[in-house]
Amino acid sequence: MINRPCLKIAVSVPVKSAFFYEVPERLDSCALVGCRVLVPFRKRKVIGYILEKSPGVHDLEVKEILDVLDTEPLFHKSLVPFFEWMADYYLHPIGQMIQSALPGGINFNPFKTALLTEKGSRILERSAPVSQEREILTWIRDHPGKRLPHPLRKITPLEKKGWVTLEDRRQKKSAGPLMRRFVRPKAKMSLESVLEKMGGPLKAENEVQFLKTVFDTGPFALNELTSRFRNGSYLVNKWVKKGALESYKAPVYRSPGGNIVCPASVPSDLYGQQRRALNRIKSYLDKSNFHVCLLYGVTGSGKTEVYYRAVEHAIGLGKQAIIMVPEISLAIYMEGIFRSRLGNRIAVYHSRLSRGERYDEWMRTIRGEVDLVIGARSALFVPLSRLGLIVVDEEYDSAYKQENSPRYQARDAAVMRAKMDKAVVILGAGTPSVQSFQNAATGKYHLLSMPDRIENRSLPDVEVVDMKCLKDKKTGNEIISPRLLEALNKNLLAGNQTILFLNRRGFRSLYLCRFCGQSIRCPNCEVALTYHFEEDRLFCHYCGFYSKTRMTCPSCGRKGIKAYGFGTERVEQELKAMFPEARISRMDTDSTRKKGQAFQILKKFSEHEIDILVGTQMITKGYDFPRVTLVGVIAADLSLGFPDFRAGERTFQILSQVAGRAGRGDQRGEVIIQTFNPAHYAVQTATAHDYKSFFEKERELREQLNYPPFSHLVCLRLKGNSKDKTEKAARELGTNLRDILAGWPKKGKEIQVLGPAEAPIARLKGKYRWQILIKGTSMSLLRHLLNAVEKDSRKVLQSRGVSLILDVDPYQMI
Ligand SMILES: [Zn+2]
Ligand SMILES: [Zn+2]
Repeated sequence: MINRPCLKIAVSVPVKSAFFYEVPERLDSCALVGCRVLVPFRKRKVIGYILEKSPGVHDLEVKEILDVLDTEPLFHKSLVPFFEWMADYYLHPIGQMIQSALPGGINFNPFKTALLTEKGSRILERSAPVSQEREILTWIRDHPGKRLPHPLRKITPLEKKGWVTLEDRRQKKSAGPLMRRFVRPKAKMSLESVLEKMGGPLKAENEVQFLKTVFDTGPFALNELTSRFRNGSYLVNKWVKKGALESYKAPVYRSPGGNIVCPASVPSDLYGQQRRALNRIKSYLDKSNFHVCLLYGVTGSGKTEVYYRAVEHAIGLGKQAIIMVPEISLAIYMEGIFRSRLGNRIAVYHSRLSRGERYDEWMRTIRGEVDLVIGARSALFVPLSRLGLIVVDEEYDSAYKQENSPRYQARDAAVMRAKMDKAVVILGAGTPSVQSFQNAATGKYHLLSMPDRIENRSLPDVEVVDMKCLKDKKTGNEIISPRLLEALNKNLLAGNQTILFLNRRGFRSLYLCRFCGQSIRCPNCEVALTYHFEEDRLFCHYCGFYSKTRMTCPSCGRKGIKAYGFGTERVEQELKAMFPEARISRMDTDSTRKKGQAFQILKKFSEHEIDILVGTQMITKGYDFPRVTLVGVIAADLSLGFPDFRAGERTFQILSQVAGRAGRGDQRGEVIIQTFNPAHYAVQTATAHDYKSFFEKERELREQLNYPPFSHLVCLRLKGNSKDKTEKAARELGTNLRDILAGWPKKGKEIQVLGPAEAPIARLKGKYRWQILIKGTSMSLLRHLLNAVEKDSRKVLQSRGVSLILDVDPYQMI
């Protein structure tokens, strides 16, 4: 029987469950829940996270932890059940789930490195020009001290031959507090005594001012003192030596805010619909119980003001709040609005912050120095201990779905977190997701409607231009119809602003051979390359591959390559040719790659230094630009073409959102939608601003086909370097799944297995891709099936060089 504290630890390696460890006495006082520890795990040392600490008395044979890596916890006890739920629901190892939730860069993972011996260098000189050994030795020579990219089993034979030596290394900590030097008066020192000691009044006015400043205001950043006073560093040294001042190091917070778009003026009063919605939210907040409100307000109905007052109310009750927005630039915009009214007890949290800034914001949050955190989906995990309110703005946005590991839906997870914390959730949307609206329709969520635009502004007039007719007549160009051109002209003359939306970047979307019909494709992916004018190169939008443009066809060798199609870059250029006097800008991932660029464009647009803004989805989000009176959708069909049951929903949402940018000021707005499918129900209902009809139609389709929200989906994606092996593995996995289901006579019928089938993009980043969809009404039954099949499959798949990705509630099935 041992009687020593026992820790439940989630280790940061791909294993499902947590493990138990003991604490040696010397580490006991600092081993707190939420701290990172170093633990032995299968002959390695790995980082783990303390989930639980129990007083001990157990009879298990457990190992001891080696070290505690934090002086204060990184998360609260109350977050542990949420992490556990996330890991369980999204079928992801808990340690890795926590690792990705915490600010990046704080972990140093021990790793192995190799150095070339003298013998090794000689061998390298003499070895055959192409051999695996040579490849490995060359890498080791060129990357001293770096983490080995090869599996150890390939290196140890070389070590045995005496060609290389292996070493254990630790990565340097790359994020942590930012330390600055400060200067302050020494304890029990007063200005008078210092001046006296100096023997009468000082002659140098500069020096007197210097001392007065330090003694009056207390701690001073050294760099500030030296920049403010002549000979500042000399004076600091002098008085430190004399024993009047002392200098010390202390952490400071980096300030991520920096540039903030100035918010519009504060509305003095609420409109009736805002007041009714807010009162309901307040009553839920007062009860301190879990409630989900779907705040369904058309674009321009004043949702942000409701968020603001709800947050204010929650803070008044001594609670804390999280506001999640789908886009980082929107987080910056939101921050401006809230900071100007709530002051500095706000943190921002998103991936655009530097690692250091993220670390600082996280630590301010766990220390209880903030009341509100604004961020993108990663803000879901911030350690607030008195969480009372979570706002998920534009809840339908697919940006809430994280598409790389760990895969999760931040909106859905936010609802779960609120449930655990007995908090209130506001899901805000102008075009609610079918799932959320269905939840409201069945009474699971409270529906709060704000059907009118504030100040009784009317919704914009929407006009649809059928591009099929345009093509037949061969009039104008393929991008901008005469109708849109006319409206653009009129709007420019009136001195108003225009937004043109096209969800495709680049200049030309297709390079096709006129003779054999082959397109120039990415060598790594089954997709066509897009031409970018600025770089004068062809790019793959999936893997980043690029190549020079060429005129000869790679398939038939003839000079028949011709460019087709268009993206935002080309729209911008055409417009510049049509309206040389207009100020035209473009906002897409290409034009906003550098930090601050997106902000600069938005700022210029809000200050009316831009007449026409061309952009991708980025510009459809909730910004408020009162001078925009015309919105043009260049091609509404792009989102309809996706092989996905949400294609209709996405199209409706995008069209409504982008249309909602028009007419938010005093003047009426106008929207022109160009499409090849004017009769599609998503286009028609969006044109009529008729969400209810859209929802009814969509709900009916989903129910017929048994798609979410009437079922749950999990996508099993298989990726491998070999075409045959990947296909074979997929087929076997499919058979396994069906076999297991056949063994469950009753429950087995509740689950449908679709596939395996080649993924719509059959090859991506060099990997062949297959997928299997499983569908069922009970998520726990689906998880049960996956746990059963995963155990056996992983190893078999691994041996074939095929990896398996489980995507729960998938959004992208391409
Ligand atoms: Zn050809
Ligand atoms: Zn590619």
